[in-house]
Amino acid sequence: MIAKVEPLTPARALRGPFDYRLAGSLAGVGVGSMLVVPFGRRRLLGVVVELAERSELPAERLVQPVAALEADVPESLVRLGLWVAHEYVSTPARGLALVLPPGTGTGAGRPLRRRRSLRAALTEEGLEVLAVDGPALTAERRAACAGEGGPAVASPAMARLGSRQTAVLEALAAGPATVAAVARRAGADHSTLRSLERRGLVRLESAAEPARRPSVVSVGARSNGVEPTPAQRAALEAIVARLPGGPGPGPLPAPALRQRSGDRAARPVLLHGVTGSGKTEVYLRAVAAALERGRSAIVLVPEIALTPQTAGRFVERFGDAVAVMHSRLSPRERYDEWWRIRRGEARVCVGPRSAVFAPLADLGLIVIDEEHDGSYKQEGDPRYDARVVAERRAALEGALLVAGSATPRPESVVRSERIVLGERVDGRALPPVDVVGMAGTAGPLHERTREELDGVRRRGEKAIVLLNRRGWSNFLSCRLCGRVWECPHCDVTLVLHRAAGEMACHHCGHRQAVPSACPDCGSVSVARHGAGTEQLERELEELVRPLPVFRLDSDVAAAAGIATVLRRFEEAGAAVLVGTQMVAKGHDFPDVTLGVVLDADATLRFPDFRAEERTFALVAQLAGRSGRGARGGRVIVQALDPDARALRHAAAHDADGFLAGELPRRKVFAYPPYGHLIRVVCSAADLGPEHAAAEAIGARVAAAGVPVLGPAPLFRRQGRVRAQLVVRSRERQPAIAAVRDAVEAVAADRAHGAVAFAVDVDPQ
Ligand code: ADP
Ligand code: ZN
Ligand code: ZN
Repeated sequence: MIAKVEPLTPARALRGPFDYRLAGSLAGVGVGSMLVVPFGRRRLLGVVVELAERSELPAERLVQPVAALEADVPESLVRLGLWVAHEYVSTPARGLALVLPPGTGTGAGRPLRRRRSLRAALTEEGLEVLAVDGPALTAERRAACAGEGGPAVASPAMARLGSRQTAVLEALAAGPATVAAVARRAGADHSTLRSLERRGLVRLESAAEPARRPSVVSVGARSNGVEPTPAQRAALEAIVARLPGGPGPGPLPAPALRQRSGDRAARPVLLHGVTGSGKTEVYLRAVAAALERGRSAIVLVPEIALTPQTAGRFVERFGDAVAVMHSRLSPRERYDEWWRIRRGEARVCVGPRSAVFAPLADLGLIVIDEEHDGSYKQEGDPRYDARVVAERRAALEGALLVAGSATPRPESVVRSERIVLGERVDGRALPPVDVVGMAGTAGPLHERTREELDGVRRRGEKAIVLLNRRGWSNFLSCRLCGRVWECPHCDVTLVLHRAAGEMACHHCGHRQAVPSACPDCGSVSVARHGAGTEQLERELEELVRPLPVFRLDSDVAAAAGIATVLRRFEEAGAAVLVGTQMVAKGHDFPDVTLGVVLDADATLRFPDFRAEERTFALVAQLAGRSGRGARGGRVIVQALDPDARALRHAAAHDADGFLAGELPRRKVFAYPPYGHLIRVVCSAADLGPEHAAAEAIGARVAAAGVPVLGPAPLFRRQGRVRAQLVVRSRERQPAIAAVRDAVEAVAADRAHGAVAFAVDVDPQ
C-alpha cells in the first residue's frame, strides 16, 4: 500500500503529496493518519491525504515512514482542510494545520502533553521532527518533549547538543518513554534529562495527571429550560424538520463514510430574530434534537470572552457533553478538549471560528450565532471565513447549518431559508431610537444624551455607551507649525493613551512617550483631537457620579479581562458601560434602559462597500441591548448626518428595509453576494518592487479574462510599502483560479524576490 503524504511545511514551493510505502506495523495507516516521514536527510511530520495501490516512483526510491502518531484526523476533515487551502489560496500544510490536534501543524508546534507530542524544529523544508512523545505511562515520571509555550522553531541551542543529549532525543523519537527507560536506552543519566529540560527540549512530568476541564465564567446564565414562545416553537419545528436522521451503525469504513457524506444536506437556515427574541433558546433545543438523533453539533460564537452568556447556557444545559474552545485555554486544556471531542465524550463543541474544525463524528447541526460578526473571518493565512467553511462542512457531512442574527448579512439572506422571530420574548417592544445631529455641537455628548444619562443616574438604572474609538485622543498636532504625530512604521497617526502615558499605533503596536514639545518648532502647545473611549469614560464619570462607569475595549480587555468588566457591570445595581463595538455584542442585561451610540456615522466615512451594512448592524445591535426588562428602554444615536440611510433603518429596527435597499445596489455592482471579491496585497521594504509585483499579477489575472482593479497604493504598514489589487467577479472559481495561478507564478519569479504576497478571498 502507498500513502500519499502532505508534509507540514511552511514553504510554498514544496508541494506534496509524496509517496511512502506502508508495510508491517504501519499497514493500518489511513487517510488522516499523522506520520513521521524521512524527507531527504530530515524527518518531517506529515498527514496522509490519500491511499493508493501503487506509486509512480521506482521501487528503490520508495521509503517507509518512520512512525505513525496515535492521533489521526477524520478523513472528512482532511478533505475540509485541503479545501480551505485551495479555496483561500493557501498551502495544503496550512489548510491541514487547521484540522490537526491543537499543537501540531506548521510552526504552531506547541507542546502536546499526555498522549503524543513532538519536539520539532521549523526549518526551511518543513517541520523537522526531533522527538516523539508517547502516551501516559505507568512509571511515576516520564520524559516528554518540548517546553511549555514557545512555537517550535529551530533554536541555536539545538546545534550544540552533546552526543548523550542527542541520544536522548533519538530515544524519545522511538515512542513512549519513562525517564528510566530513556536514560537506559540513551546511555544517559537523569542529569542529562534535566539539562535537556532546562533547555526546553524535554519536559519531565508526572504521568498520572488528571485531565483538566476548563471553566466557563457564566455571566447572566439563568432560566434553564424556559417554556418556548409560540414563535420559538414554530422556528424550532422548522429547524428540526430539516435536521438529518440518525447516524449510521457505528464507525463506518472510509468509502461508506464518503457515501453518507453524499446525503443531500438541507439548504442553510437563517434564523432572523430581532434582538431579545430568544434565539439562544432555539439553538439549545435544536442542539438537543440533534443529540437525540445520535448526531453531534457545533455552535460557533463570536469571541467567547465577549459573549460568555451564550457559552454558559450551553454548559448549563448539556454539562459534560459540551467542549468549550475558549481563547484563554492553555495549550494543555485545548488539547484535552480536542481529545474529548475526538473520542466522542463531548458531542457538542462551542467555540469561535476555529471550532468549525472540531473533530466531531456524525455531525448533524452547525449553529452560527450572531452570524454578522466580523470575527468569523480569520486575518492570517489561510484567510478563511468560518461561515463559508461551515456551509461547506455541513454540505460534506450532511448536517444542517443554522445561522442566526438580528442584522443578517446580505450573503446569508440570499443563500438561506429564512425563519423569522419578529418579536422579543414576552412581546416587549423594541426600544424607541432617536437619531440626533451633532453638527455645530461642542463636546462629545449631545444635550439629549446628557439629559437621558442624567435620568439614568437619578433613577439608578443602567446605560451602555458605544464609541468605536479607543484611547484618549485620536491624534495630536502642534498648534504652531501643524505637525501631526505619526507612527514611524506606518502612515497613520498615533493615538494618545493617557492612562498608559504613551502614544500608540493601532496598526503595528509601536509606542512612544507623549511629547511635551514639538520636535520641529519647539512649541509646547500641542492640541489633542477626537475623543476616544478613555476620555469619554472620564467625562461620563463626572456626569453620572456616583454611578460607577466601566470601560470595555481592547486596552482594558488586556488588563482587567473582559469577563470581569462584564460581571462587574452586571452585578452593579446601577452603572454605565462604555466601550468600543465590544459593548454591542450579544449581551443580555435586562436592566439596561439606555443605549447611546456616539459618532455613529464614522464607519460610513470609510470607502468600503460594506460601510452601510456595518453601520446598520452596529447601531441596531447596540440598540438591541436596551430595554430588555420590565422597565423598557430607549436609545440615542449621535451622528453628523442623522439622515443617513443605514441610521434611519437602524433607528426603525428595520432590517428588511435596509436589505431591500442594499441588495439591488449590490446586484448592480456585482458586490457580494452577487459577486466575489479577492484582494491581493504585495508588500516590500522599499518603494517599487511591491508595485511591479502587483502589476505583474494584475496582468496575468486580466489575461485570464478576469476583471481586476489596481494596483493602488495602500498606506505603509509595519515598515512595509504596499500595493493592492482587487478582483471582482460574478464567477467565483475562475477568479480564484486566476489569482492562484498568477500569485504562484509571480511569487516563484526571482525578479520579485523582495516581495511578500497576501491573498484574501472574501475580504471584510
Ligand atoms: P437573542 O439572542 O435573540 O437576542 P436571547 O437568546 O439572549 O435573545 O434571549 C433574550 C432573553 O430572553 C434571555 O434572557 C432569555 O433567557 C430569555 N428567554 C428566551 N426564551 C424565553 C422564553 N421562552 N420565555 C422567557 N424568557 C425567554
Ligand atoms: Zn510644531
Ligand atoms: Zn505603526
